[in-house]
Formats: sequence, structure tokens, C-alpha cells
Amino acid sequence: MTNLAAVICVSIILSAALGVYLRLRQIDWVARNRLTVPADFFRAVTLEEHRCAADYNVAKTRLSIVATIYDGATSLLWLLVWLSPLYWAVGSFIEPGLTRSVALVLAFGFLSAVLQLPLDLGETFWLEARFGFNRQTFGGFFADWLKGGALEFAVATPLLYAAFALLREAPDRWWLYAYVGFMVFILAITAIYPTFIAPLFNKFSPLPNEAMRERLETLLKKCGFESRGLFVMDASRRSSRGNAYFTGFGKAKRIVFYDTLLARHTPEEIESILAHELGHFKLGHVRQMLVLSAAIAFVGFAALRWALGDTGLTFVFGLPNEPGLALIAALLAKDPVIHILSPLLSWRSRRAEFEADDFAKSMVGEEPMISALTRLTRDNLATLTPDRIYALFYYSHPPVPLRVAHLRGAD
Ligand SMILES: [Zn+2]
Repeated sequence: MTNLAAVICVSIILSAALGVYLRLRQIDWVARNRLTVPADFFRAVTLEEHRCAADYNVAKTRLSIVATIYDGATSLLWLLVWLSPLYWAVGSFIEPGLTRSVALVLAFGFLSAVLQLPLDLGETFWLEARFGFNRQTFGGFFADWLKGGALEFAVATPLLYAAFALLREAPDRWWLYAYVGFMVFILAITAIYPTFIAPLFNKFSPLPNEAMRERLETLLKKCGFESRGLFVMDASRRSSRGNAYFTGFGKAKRIVFYDTLLARHTPEEIESILAHELGHFKLGHVRQMLVLSAAIAFVGFAALRWALGDTGLTFVFGLPNEPGLALIAALLAKDPVIHILSPLLSWRSRRAEFEADDFAKSMVGEEPMISALTRLTRDNLATLTPDRIYALFYYSHPPVPLRVAHLRGAD
């Protein structure tokens, strides 16, 4: 094993150890605060509900400790043991060339998805079912799994062919062309996702309730958003969790409410949630996230240039010089780097949430937003007492107590 291979393997182990440590902190902090509802919430959340949320979060975090160790172990097994037999197995059917490279990556993707299956099943049918969230049957789960896999296969195959062909034709500059192609692809997906991809998995319909519609349309006009961008999604097919999101850009932009959210919130709360989502639209958050992703992808492709070169990752791990294998090794080696960078990415997205909350407050006042957040937290069994460091790494949204304090102007 070369020194660099050792560094990569140790990083994978350290990253998993960090993941386990942060999760143990979270479990400890949630369990320690299990019997006290935080002062800001004791009117809206009962002790019973608070205890149930704590039990759910402890169980969920325990399951994710298993997942963290499992993921780290499978990454090491792939790099040190399984990639060689995969190469021989695929190589015995397919001649060297573009198709072999593509087939290697697709075979790896398929086997990874199969390895991931027990964890996904455990989450849906053990954890989520135990706490009353799951509404999916085994049949529905596997239909989603197959549909998602088929979609990824259909999208990945031509992209991989194009990337490996570029690598062969322009070994020095292929990564720049591939980067530009990748960004065009990401923009295209963002543009067509709301209208063409999301409907493969859910039904989207215009907001049904007339009175509510009028109320929301007034707010939409005030913010310069076209009202035909407002949709309800049948999320209740899979889970009883409530949520709302803003997606797409240009003519395809949409604000989507889960039907589960509309069923449980007051009109004032729904209006404040809409105002929050409009805040993301007004403040250009989708665009900012795209720019940030573009910068990260550029660094990623520059790293791929090295990784797929003659003295790149296959050389480092003593594997046959095959671009498909190099790409797989790069995908496995990137995880610890992303993990270390996650506080930075979460920080950016948490700041966007505070900004959208400020916007909502300026539109409809703070009280409906606070009661909407409190109800969402309670109904989704989110914890009101997360560990601070854990939240820095893994929370894309600020913990609700901080958002409520921010809305009240306490910080
Ligand atoms: Zn938001």
C-alpha cells in the first residue's frame, strides 16, 4: 500500500469515528434533556410529546451510528478488497474500452444501492413505522427504489460515456469540458426537475381551498411571484411528516406544500410558511446555492483530473489502470473531505433560513411563523434540545429554538 492510500483509508476511519462521536454527543444531550420542555415551548409542547420526540431522536441517531460504521467499512472494503474482483468480473464479459469503464461504474452503483438497502428498509419499516410516520407498503417502497434506480441509470449512462470519451480524446483538458457539461446538466435538471422529474414520484395539484388561495395570492402578488407556481404534493402517500419547499428557477419555479402540512396548520401559519419560502425566492437563495455548488464542483473536477490520470488513484491503490475504477475510487475517497466541509455548507444554508425567517416576519409578523415552527417541530418529532456541535455539522436548518429566539429578536 502506498502512503497516500494509507492516508485515504485512515481519513475514512477518522471520518467515521468523528461521525460516531458527534452522534453519541447528540444522543447524550437529547437524553439528558428528555424530562424538561425548554422554557420557550412549555405552553405549546406537552412533556409527553417532548419525551416521545427525545425517544424518536435517540432511536434515529442510534440507527445512524450503525449506518456510519457500515458506510465506512464498506468504503474500505471496496477500496482494499472488492474493486479487484469487480474489475475481473466486468472485464471477463466486456472488452477494454469505453463500455467497460461505464459498466464498471454502473455495476458499482448497483451493488452500492443493494448494500444500502438493509439500512433504508430499517429506517422506513422499523424506525419510521415504530413512531407512526411511515405510510409506505413494501410494494410501494420497492416501486420507488426501482423507479429511482432506473432514472439514475438512464441519466448516468450517457454522462459516463461522454466523460470517458472526453478523457480519451483530450487527456489534458477533458476535466474542463466535463465540468462545463456537468454544470449545464445541473442547470437543466434544476429547470426540469419540478415539471418532469418530481411528478414521477408524486402528484402535484393546484391549491384546492378557494378562501386559502385568495389569501395566499395576495401575498404572492405582494412579492412578485406568479400564483400558478403554488402546488400541493400528495406527501401523505409515503409519510405523515409535514413540509414545504421552494424549487426550480425561471418559469419552472414552484412553491410546494405537502398535503400533510395543509391538513394540520392554521391559515395564518400556512401564510407565514409561504412567506418564508417566498423569502428564499426573493433573496435569490436557489441561485446562490447553484453558484456555491459550481465552485465546489470545479474543485471536484480538478481533483478528478489527477485521480483519473496515469499516476492517479488506481496507481495509489495498486489497481489496474482503468478510468472506471479510478472514478469509483475517487467517489469513495471524497466522503471524508465532504464530511469535514459540512459545517461550512450547513452554515451557509442556516444563514439562508434566518434570512427567509426575517423576510417572513416583515411580511406577516413573527407570531404565525413561531407557531408554525413549533407545530412542525412537534408533529415531526424534531428535538428541541439538539447538541450544538452535532447541529453545526448536520443541520441544514437552524435548530427551532434558535429560529424562534431569532424571530423574537433575542439575539
Ligand atoms: Zn427555508
